[in-house]
Amino acid sequence: MGDCFVSDIDLEVLWNSVYRKLRSELGDPVVDSWISPLSPGKLDGDTLHLVAPSMFFRDWVLNNYHRRIVDLCNQENSCIKRVDISVLSQEEVAESVRTKSKAVSTKNKSDDAAGLSIPLDPKLTFENFVVGKPNELAYAAALRVAESDSVAFNPLFLYGAVGLGKTHLMHAIAWSIKHRSPSRNIAYMSAEKFMYHFVRSVRYKDTMAFKDQFRAVDVLMIDDIQFICGKESTQEEFFHTFNALVDNNRQVIVSADKSPSDLDGMEERLKSRLGWGLVADIHPTTYELRLGILHAKAAACTVKIPDKVLEFVAHKVTSNVRELEGALNRIIASAVFIGREITVENAREVLSDLLRTSERKVTIEEIQKKVAVHYAIKLSDMFSPRRARQLALPRQIAMYLAKKLTTLSLPEIGKSFGGKNHTTVLHAVKKINKLIDSDNSVSEDIKLLTHILIR
Ligand code: ADP
Ligand code: MG
Repeated sequence: MGDCFVSDIDLEVLWNSVYRKLRSELGDPVVDSWISPLSPGKLDGDTLHLVAPSMFFRDWVLNNYHRRIVDLCNQENSCIKRVDISVLSQEEVAESVRTKSKAVSTKNKSDDAAGLSIPLDPKLTFENFVVGKPNELAYAAALRVAESDSVAFNPLFLYGAVGLGKTHLMHAIAWSIKHRSPSRNIAYMSAEKFMYHFVRSVRYKDTMAFKDQFRAVDVLMIDDIQFICGKESTQEEFFHTFNALVDNNRQVIVSADKSPSDLDGMEERLKSRLGWGLVADIHPTTYELRLGILHAKAAACTVKIPDKVLEFVAHKVTSNVRELEGALNRIIASAVFIGREITVENAREVLSDLLRTSERKVTIEEIQKKVAVHYAIKLSDMFSPRRARQLALPRQIAMYLAKKLTTLSLPEIGKSFGGKNHTTVLHAVKKINKLIDSDNSVSEDIKLLTHILIR
């Protein structure tokens, strides 16, 4: 069994290779829809565990591509006899997306500046990046770095939550620089890869070569720097590399999921150094930006998607652009492969698991506000102990909705209503359940409020 040990990084490499073969066998649309969302989990004995974002995906991949995936994995590493696909929770998906290095096509070996860079994704260019209020600063800064011949600010630090376009902008900068000045040496890699190079150089007692290699770079781009938080020796090495490059007027570009000062587990001197240049954040998407992105993606696709469906998706899938693209891909796939008509109703069904998680994000404050507005009472009446029916009923309806639409417990809900006991909340929930059956105006109100809240 000793041969079967595969490190996380080797597993990524193995999966990338399988992924590339699948892309050439099955074509871009199939791979973008069904294979890209899979990520390698771990190797356990002779079984490779892959992770899919939903049951729908898992079943489709198992029914259609499983055999081929097993064969290709087995060709890569003969230890692998079985491939199992499981489904992760949304939080776990976000986490795995964050650390997953992108599987991309290799076009040209000489692209790999100093043999360090990972291949760039041809789709991630400035042209394909839709600009809106939430990302305009980051976009402008990225463009400036890409297009100026001198070092404008050093480093450029891009940060924002997962799936909002950091990696996209970094690839775009790299493409643009490559295009304008092909001779400049660009090294783009994840912080994980940086650590991998470093750890390997230490293991093979080859740190001088490591240093030389990195210091010969004109533009160093490190994606997801938060990965090295808590990894002291890698940080130390990065700090020296960083300083050497900046001192020599070479451009450094870094991305992270947080601002430099919020990077817990990062050395103080590195935090402060990272904040010296331009720090640009990418905010969560707005409805307008989501719709813009969907229109751009839909225009590049052969099937026609009604505007109503795009608007529906822009309304519903609010977490990040990656999920937005995933949602659109699924709708396209259901039309192309299963022959479904593209309608809002069908989209709702295809996306049911995604929608459930976004519906859960209703907050108790929103519920209280909307219910107060609906019944024309003051927001403060939600927290008051007064029992007059015109106040108590709305309050009980709000408690009922909080139980139904959030994951909060009865005591937590009670607390948010001016420190009420959990039995008070339970009583409210029971009472409203009864009223829904017996009182038409209450049941209509609940329907309307629910609709407003999970819109
Ligand atoms: P991050 O690195 O911030 O986690 P990515 O750059 O990987 O996010 O973006 C996730 C996906 O969303 C990618 O496929 C990317 O092309 C797409 N994307 C993100 N922002 C935009 C945008 N403004 N316009 C077009 N596509 C976008
Ligand atoms: Mg990224």
